[in-house]
Amino acid sequence: MLRTTRISFYLLLAATAFDITALCAQAPATDTATTPLYKDVALPVDQRVADLLKRMTLEEKASMLAGSGWMESAPIERLGIPAIKMADGPMGVRSWAGSSAITNSSTNPVRVETTSFPSGVAMAASWDTALVQREGQAIAQEVKALGRDMILGPTVNINRVPLWGRNFEGYGEDPFLSGQLGVAYIRGVQGEGVIPSVKHFAANNEEFERHRLDEKIDERTLHEIYLPAFKVAVQQADVWTVMSAYEKVNGQYCAENPYLLTDILKKEFGFKGFVISDWGSTYSTAPTVNAGMDLEMPGGPPAKAMLSSPRTIMSGNSGTWLEAGKVLAEVKAGHISEATLNDNVGRILRVIILSGIMEHPHTASGEVDTPEQQKVARDGATEGIVLLKNQGALLPLDPSKIHSIAVIGPNAVVARTGGGGSSLVRPKYAISPLDGIKKRAGESIQIASALGVGMEGEDAAHDTPEARANDLKAATDAAAKADVAIVVVGRYNKNESEGFDVKTMDLPAGQDELIAAVEKANPHTVVVLNTGDPVTMSKWIDTTPALLDMWYGGQEGGNALAAILFGDANPSGKLPVSLPKKFEDSPAAKNYPGKDLKTEYAEGIYVGYRYYDTKNVEPQFPFGFGLSYTTFEYSDLKLIPFVTHSGTIKSEGTLVSLKVKNSGSRAGAEVVQLYVRDSHAKIDRPAHELKAFSRVELKAGESQTIKLNLDRSAFEYWSPQTKEWTLDPGTFEIQIGASSRDIRLKASLEIAR
Ligand code: BGC
Repeated sequence: MLRTTRISFYLLLAATAFDITALCAQAPATDTATTPLYKDVALPVDQRVADLLKRMTLEEKASMLAGSGWMESAPIERLGIPAIKMADGPMGVRSWAGSSAITNSSTNPVRVETTSFPSGVAMAASWDTALVQREGQAIAQEVKALGRDMILGPTVNINRVPLWGRNFEGYGEDPFLSGQLGVAYIRGVQGEGVIPSVKHFAANNEEFERHRLDEKIDERTLHEIYLPAFKVAVQQADVWTVMSAYEKVNGQYCAENPYLLTDILKKEFGFKGFVISDWGSTYSTAPTVNAGMDLEMPGGPPAKAMLSSPRTIMSGNSGTWLEAGKVLAEVKAGHISEATLNDNVGRILRVIILSGIMEHPHTASGEVDTPEQQKVARDGATEGIVLLKNQGALLPLDPSKIHSIAVIGPNAVVARTGGGGSSLVRPKYAISPLDGIKKRAGESIQIASALGVGMEGEDAAHDTPEARANDLKAATDAAAKADVAIVVVGRYNKNESEGFDVKTMDLPAGQDELIAAVEKANPHTVVVLNTGDPVTMSKWIDTTPALLDMWYGGQEGGNALAAILFGDANPSGKLPVSLPKKFEDSPAAKNYPGKDLKTEYAEGIYVGYRYYDTKNVEPQFPFGFGLSYTTFEYSDLKLIPFVTHSGTIKSEGTLVSLKVKNSGSRAGAEVVQLYVRDSHAKIDRPAHELKAFSRVELKAGESQTIKLNLDRSAFEYWSPQTKEWTLDPGTFEIQIGASSRDIRLKASLEIAR
């Protein structure tokens, strides 16, 4: 019998909306003042913005709505308003010298080499908000050192389809986890006075025809799945900018979607910063400005150059709609009001002032890729590795017993640091799995390496039947002679990338066969996945003794992998995404990629484990799953209702407390997950939903009490009838798990109102 605890909730008061027009009207005349008000750093930001707006001509205001270059906003020198100098992210700082086609090429005009951090999905697998905050801070420090002001990240789009080309960039399938990690990244960046941009608002979940696709998504699904990470970015991290997405949502481009940009983002969430368009995603002047778009990117000559390329036009890019002349004409024609223009410009000024770049524009002056920054990258790569299988405790490898290792696979010798597109960072160095293993193994262990199979599409010389046969034979020979074989498989930045989706969940050609053949040659085989998207494992998983997922681990991936293989670090990563057995099992499979440029999110809120766990579809590995070299025991679950007062606001919540003990013989970390189950609601709800989590490090034998807070939002659903977040009073089940399918403790909680 479950013990029941009773609580009730009071509604929180709504936050007051930001109204720059009202402030403009109230602001005192300042033209005669010796020091203009807007330069007075002691004044509140809204007052400084209002003062600046009063000093600006209509032309100057209109000129701020479009960029002045590929990655720069427009400055107003007369008033000392600097350009915001941007750089792509989110997994490190990229060259800002043009589109990814230019900056990813070897002839890149501005060669920028920075720390390559692990991909978003790898960082998400750490479930470590403190670490993600450190990552945000380290990236922001590199942004400043290079004389830039803004990093275009984090990406918080949900992994809806296993084939999305950008799954590696996001934080997985769960809105709560994605939101908390996004908040951490933003806090790290903004804490350094650097401007982040949480992207892509909203529902950028496939790359297929991303400039034309129209997604039909019901309001409940939007609110429960695709918007929460943006909501907390606004409400918990007070994010300074939001980037709109390329595609259409319910018939309107995201860049000119008043429902998304104004009704939801600015009014419902209370967003006070500015909205920036994704590059080349605008299609009109007045409708875009009136919908709530504040800054169109890119601008100036680079935008014109982009639009003169038939390839960009064919793919559906558009732009230069918010250049000054076009905006002014629409203001003069009465299609854009001056109040709207003030709001747009006021938001941009607000961020310029808040970030401090008004007084202190960043100038290239510092070091990048420092040992501290490298350590963050390494910690992220290590904590993100997920141990999925470990039969017979094959891992960790014991150097005193092992004399030889064969390191095999198309991703073993080359460091595959990240997926392709605008997030791919060029590092100063990158450690491949082979480099990392060699360095860690030292002189006493012999290391052999073999390609096994060429990466599909990468190297024509390895694509012939003869070459394949030779590569496979060399690999199985090496495996047969070694004590342990390590096969590193996956994809790379040319077949897993922004701009297109992955064609199939199957591993690239020949990799399944390679794994099966190596396993046959050596029963002590460890398979390592080095990719961002889920892959089909059916051809080998039953006979694979040990399996690790290292995702794309950034420049330190190989060192991190070696640390896990040899037990210097104990695996603590947990899947931030369910790994289905096959693509057809995944919830959106029937609705992907859509028809006639339309796709229906017909699976609704049943995304990821919400689908697998409710509809009883067994995944290959469930959400939240990950093994360790030690074991953990859970006990003493208690629910403690509490009340807090902040001024006139009274709020109630529940403190959930439990004990976790490291019951094994090695130090390790456990990610404790709290799911809420509501089986009494007036509406269909998932079997359970993640509402809190905590990563705890414990020495062998050590116990710790974990405390997790639940407020009213943990129990609510979004009602399509009332169009509000709703709580149906009744009994909820609080589940504490080591994965979504490994619930260790349960208690029931009765909510009266
Ligand atoms: C991507 C954005 C990126 C922008 C600038 C777009 O193609 O979708 O994420 O920030 O380019 O490079």
